[in-house]
Amino acid sequence: MGSSGGGAEKLGIGEIRDLINLEMPQLKEALDPSKASTQLGWACPSCTFINKPTRPGCEICSMDRPEGYTVPGGHQPDPAELRRITQEKEAVRQYQQEKKEKRRAEGGWPTEKPTTI
Ligand SMILES: [Zn+2]
Repeated sequence: MGSSGGGAEKLGIGEIRDLINLEMPQLKEALDPSKASTQLGWACPSCTFINKPTRPGCEICSMDRPEGYTVPGGHQPDPAELRRITQEKEAVRQYQQEKKEKRRAEGGWPTEKPTTI
């Protein structure tokens, strides 16, 4: 008797899009051609991702912004972008703070050495 298994469910393209939309709102933006055409920014030399003009480094691979790129004079970060920039700065600050405190805690412990006779 052969077991005819194969319960592999195939996701429809619509379901995949829903998943993407839920988990990666930025991807959704990238997939939307109407928004992409008006998107300002600099293309990452490493991964070609179009980053917001105000980003100092690539959002995807952390590559530095090309030195030749200048933020367009009229470009003003929208409130959402400003909030994100602030949050990122805050996150970095907290991360460094935690790292510092952790290191201090680790350094504070007396190093126990097994006494060998
Ligand atoms: Zn990149």
